[in-house]
Amino acid sequence: MSYSHFDWPEEEIKRVGYRVVDELARYLTHLPDRPVFEPVPGDAVLQMIDTPAPENGHTPDAILDDVIATAMRWPFGQGHPRFYAWVNSTPAVMGIFADAIAAALNPSCAGGNHAAIYIERQVLAWYREMLGLPPSWGGLLVSGGSMAALTALAAARHARAGFDVRRHGLQHPSRTVVVYRSGEAHTCHQKAIELLGIGSAHMRVIPCGPDRRMSVPAFEQAVREDLDRGCTPAAVVTSFGTVNTGAIDSIPDVAAVCRRYGIWLHVDAAYGGPAVLSDRYAAHRTSLALADSVALDPHKWLFVPIEAGAVFVRHPQALREAFSLVPPYIQASAPAGPKTMDPVFGLPWFSEYGFQQTRGFRALKCWMVMKQFGLRGYGAAVERCIALADRLAARIAEAGEFELLEPRGMSIACFRYAPAGATASEVDALNRRLLTALQLGGRYFLSGTTLDGRFYLRACIVNGRATEEDIDGLLPAILAARTS
Ligand SMILES: *Cc1c(COP(=O)(O)O)cnc(C)c1O
Repeated sequence: MSYSHFDWPEEEIKRVGYRVVDELARYLTHLPDRPVFEPVPGDAVLQMIDTPAPENGHTPDAILDDVIATAMRWPFGQGHPRFYAWVNSTPAVMGIFADAIAAALNPSCAGGNHAAIYIERQVLAWYREMLGLPPSWGGLLVSGGSMAALTALAAARHARAGFDVRRHGLQHPSRTVVVYRSGEAHTCHQKAIELLGIGSAHMRVIPCGPDRRMSVPAFEQAVREDLDRGCTPAAVVTSFGTVNTGAIDSIPDVAAVCRRYGIWLHVDAAYGGPAVLSDRYAAHRTSLALADSVALDPHKWLFVPIEAGAVFVRHPQALREAFSLVPPYIQASAPAGPKTMDPVFGLPWFSEYGFQQTRGFRALKCWMVMKQFGLRGYGAAVERCIALADRLAARIAEAGEFELLEPRGMSIACFRYAPAGATASEVDALNRRLLTALQLGGRYFLSGTTLDGRFYLRACIVNGRATEEDIDGLLPAILAARTS
């Protein structure tokens, strides 16, 4: 069949599309039968990275054959029922389809009077409500928690530096802007602090107690010292669910200090935000609204395919002031509502509230997956992940020769195999070896972390397909890995 690149006949779109759907269905339903992960052999790597750009186009079927032999042959394991590494979750099926529909429509969500914009606003309102944030808060979708952190801290820097950062950068001779975070905060905040020109030398790492929550007295002490030195304490990053252990900072206490000193409070709920839908964490829901900004990663515990992050701010104007580059004289004043807005330009543009101009239709997958689950379905999925992590913790606690790291939170369990008589450094080396053997073995995929200088295996269950049997098989698989 001959047709141009742009004018595919309807029958051909269907024929190729059905083949894509067949492959997706096969992949998703047969995942449990295949290894979680297999390392890509060197020859295959070379073939994937060293093939020249095609001189002439290939047929759709040849392209799909290639996809099956490469991307679908060598996945990293996300979505597999026995993948519990990092904070990578199972993609919801409606989110998979959403990406195709979003690409077909291909809108730029910079702004304008078109449906994609309202779907994004709707999704943001749903998430806001889920997190207990008032409707007066604003926000936007971004690529993930890192971009949410950068966006929020950019707004904080602009709002709290005490001079016009957009004009002067941080070259103001008499002011040093400082930002605080705990030792357990995600590293993306340091990246953001460096990128924003604040500099990691002006990032105060506040120690945590044995519960791995930021010490609030130590935070206040650091603020006092900085004020005495003439520095400007601008923002503090707190965690609602740390990556290492699922710890939750005492947000109300930190907020009280922030109020005293006029410090911007950022809450990183990238992983843990959806936990407020569970019985165990529901009481924390009210604390998020004490923040000035909140980060949430729908591509984690809300099962939206990667990438999908969200940032919320108490004062939407703070984002606009930090990012808008439309000259004020043509900046549309916010219309009172949909009935009075400009029929082409619509409501104020998202591109004025963040760094990106052309923006993808990320909202569609968030919206479709929220509709697939409903808040109740999300709550059940979150509860189930927590229950599976509890189950794993119970297995670890009752097995001899395993150490469970406590306290643990949310859906994470950190632990190590510690046979009697082994020294601490032997245990570290042994667990590193076991982790690699486990990952290469193809049965399970965990990640590792270092806490208090000790190496731990780490299981983070944001997995909608894991079963009790999968969880119960993990420790035996680790023991079996001793001999591989
Ligand atoms: C994943 C994560 C981040 C970083 O977000 P990305 O989506 O990876 O950019 C920040 N904080 C926490 C707690 C996270 O789990």
